[in-house]
Amino acid sequence: MTSKLVDTLINANLVPLKPYESARRLFSGGQDWLNANESPFANPYDIDSGNFNRYPSCQPHSVINGYADYAGVDKSQLIVTRGADEGIELLIRTFCTPGEDNILICPPTYGMYAISAETCDVGIKRVPLNDDFSLDVDGICATESVNLVFICAPNNPTGTQVSQADLTAVLEHFANTALVVVDEAYIEFDIDNTWATQLAAYPNLVVLRTLSKAFALAGLRCGFTIASEAIIQSLLKVIAPYPIPEPVAQIVAQALTAENIERMQQQVAFLNEQRTTLQAELAKRPGVALVGDVKANYILFRHSHCAQIMQYLVSQGMLIRDQSKQLNLQDCLRVTIGSAEQNQRLLSLLDAYFEQAGASL
Ligand SMILES: *Cc1c(COP(=O)(O)O)cnc(C)c1O
Repeated sequence: MTSKLVDTLINANLVPLKPYESARRLFSGGQDWLNANESPFANPYDIDSGNFNRYPSCQPHSVINGYADYAGVDKSQLIVTRGADEGIELLIRTFCTPGEDNILICPPTYGMYAISAETCDVGIKRVPLNDDFSLDVDGICATESVNLVFICAPNNPTGTQVSQADLTAVLEHFANTALVVVDEAYIEFDIDNTWATQLAAYPNLVVLRTLSKAFALAGLRCGFTIASEAIIQSLLKVIAPYPIPEPVAQIVAQALTAENIERMQQQVAFLNEQRTTLQAELAKRPGVALVGDVKANYILFRHSHCAQIMQYLVSQGMLIRDQSKQLNLQDCLRVTIGSAEQNQRLLSLLDAYFEQAGASL
């Protein structure tokens, strides 16, 4: 569909962009969703509709207090957003001037940093990860004119952790020039390595969190940005007046009770066990090479039949994610840890594929 009016009015930076191909948008069918790093657990919650005629609070107290306690920060040091994705966009809109400023990213990594920058007409400087997926600290520190440095830890899709020394060097290098945003979407799977408790030491540190992964609430769209009070106050100038719907606030408050945090931790422990099993089983399959590390709820692997495996799994309703277009991830597939049944079904389907592929492996 084309429209002359739209073609004349649309912002020039948006012309080459395509709507985001989320895992959800790529496939409509399927029964086993192991492609978006969601949790296999659907936990029950209650809703009270008594206040649905009123606008919600911009930053609901129960949500802010609950997450501040959980993360071990002061309630002045966080903002709740429509998913961590909104936090990424708010940071870019607040701290980068369109057409002038730049962000720095380290591919292969999470796609939304670049997409948000592009939609905001903000430049992107890329410093690829080293061959072992560690940070190229020298390359990062040699990059000038950046306002935000995005570092995903554990990194999606490589599952690798970022070394404390490397991140410290980056934070110190940019102390007076840029904010360093550590995306901890998967931190519950590697909780000892959080940076949320380091805010006092690094005023340019920002930590992103989400309820979409370990907390099993991707459908809610709820994330948090943790930073100094000065940074949070700046983000509050830009965020929409009512970003968090009342039912979302109610469910988040329940998810953050001590009892339900413990439930989340048990589910994480279960997924970590499943991951260990799946990783060992995958490694036994012909031609499978594990790639990166497993510090989160997914496994990345390489196979020369990448495209055919993907196609076969899709035909069987088993959806995983093709990462082969990412820098240095040729022939790589990422599989989210699902329920025990789903993980077993994935292995059975792979075996069926390998048996049929036979000698060509
Ligand atoms: C899933 C994911 C997010 C987005 O989380 P939402 O809260 O669902 O928007 C952010 N960063 C990384 C690295 C992710 O994998």
